Amino acid sequence: MNAFGMVIVGAGETGARAAEQLREQGWTGKITLVGKEKEAPYERPPLSKAALLAEETPTPVYVAREERLGELNVDWIAGSVAVRIDRSAHAVHLEDGRAVPYERLLLATGASPRRLAMEGADLSGALCLRTFADALAIRERLVPGNRVLIVGAGFIGLEVAASARERGCEVTVLEVGPRILMRVLPPEIAAIVEERHRRAGIAFKLGTGIVGAAREGAWHAIKLADGEVLRGDTLIVGIGAAPETALAAESGLAIDNGIAADERLATSDPDIFAAGDCCSFPHRLYGGRRFRLEAWRNAVDQGIHAAKSMLGETAPYEAVPWFWSDQYDLTLQVAGLSHDATSTATRQSAGNTIVFHQDGAGRLLAASGVGAPSLAKDIRVSEMLIARQAVLDPAKLADPDVKLKSLLAD
Ligand SMILES: Cc1cc2nc3c(=O)[nH]c(=O)nc-3n(C[C@H](O)[C@H](O)[C@H](O)COP(=O)(O)OP(=O)(O)OC[C@H]3O[C@@H](n4cnc5c(N)ncnc54)[C@H](O)[C@@H]3O)c2cc1C
Repeated sequence: MNAFGMVIVGAGETGARAAEQLREQGWTGKITLVGKEKEAPYERPPLSKAALLAEETPTPVYVAREERLGELNVDWIAGSVAVRIDRSAHAVHLEDGRAVPYERLLLATGASPRRLAMEGADLSGALCLRTFADALAIRERLVPGNRVLIVGAGFIGLEVAASARERGCEVTVLEVGPRILMRVLPPEIAAIVEERHRRAGIAFKLGTGIVGAAREGAWHAIKLADGEVLRGDTLIVGIGAAPETALAAESGLAIDNGIAADERLATSDPDIFAAGDCCSFPHRLYGGRRFRLEAWRNAVDQGIHAAKSMLGETAPYEAVPWFWSDQYDLTLQVAGLSHDATSTATRQSAGNTIVFHQDGAGRLLAASGVGAPSLAKDIRVSEMLIARQAVLDPAKLADPDVKLKSLLAD
């Protein structure tokens, strides 16, 4: 390693964890952390939950405050966009003309909300949620009696719906798919979540696309494919996020549903790594199939892993994916990935429901649960079973009298 040091682009969850880990691993050279946002790295999960519910104006929950970055001797360049990578000169060029030389570079550029695009539609004033500033703007609108239209019944749309309802808004969730949480959860679990939302007073319009949008003074008028027009004074769009790949693509790095990384999280340039929401990587547990994950723990773990890889470690990244969501008093947790599952077994106990996803050979691929926080224990054991690629009897998985832990010995 020479004096060029380590450079991280993206001062979010992944970037901050990577910077910390480089020091923890004993790297004493220069570390530069370049971030588009002016805030020090902060947690995004509270943005759709606690930040929207806060009585007083909230402050971010920081991953690493400015003082902490100082203690770590991290050169944090805030409010600055990296616009180009000169791979032959090993330098990242910033918007303001500066060039930051690197020995090894980590791209931790995250993802950006997908926008609704429709010819002739007036979507001015529509809000989305990714940054702390977005959360503040949405929170301002969540006053009792406001009529909130939310486009998208994925995790973020539903978390915002729950928060808006808890703040006394009238909420309608619009979803083009036939049910909520279509991409991420099995129907049994989604049905429990939907029922909880309906009980809280949320209205759903499912299975109907949006064909137009107009402004009528302060109101948004959203025209649905079935001809109905819904009006709201607040429009929030939560239709997923696209990986931030422009910088990587422009510099000729391979892109494949995100910045394409290998199992160590190295990109197609061995001195450049990618981690977190912006990258896809092959997962050993799923036959080397390539995934891109948008989940808090993945951002933490990949930040840590990428830091070690930057320092020369060769271990593959193979953590079992894990995701959680909180809506009202419900906790949702998913371990593993169910894409290749051919069957499910459902366990119900103490108000918790867990759906286990298995492949044709009976191997446990994923577990999706909903219920009380006590669910976490069983999901944790499921993670261990998934990591071991355990082949399990579905009858035992479904039987609440069989302790999941006992299956670890099978
Ligand atoms: C509202 C919300 C709620 C969530 N809730 C949950 C949850 O309950 N459970 C869960 O598991 N996960 C949740 N997540 C997902 C989790 O927060 C993300 O997976 C995680 O933040 C990803 O971290 P990251 O560092 O990869 O990306 P980010 O946190 O997006 O950080 C990337 C940073 O890079 C910056 N950047 C991008 N391009 C450049 C550039 N060219 N130059 C400089 N800087 C750049 C961006 O501005 C950004 O600050 C939630 C996400 C959101 C948005």
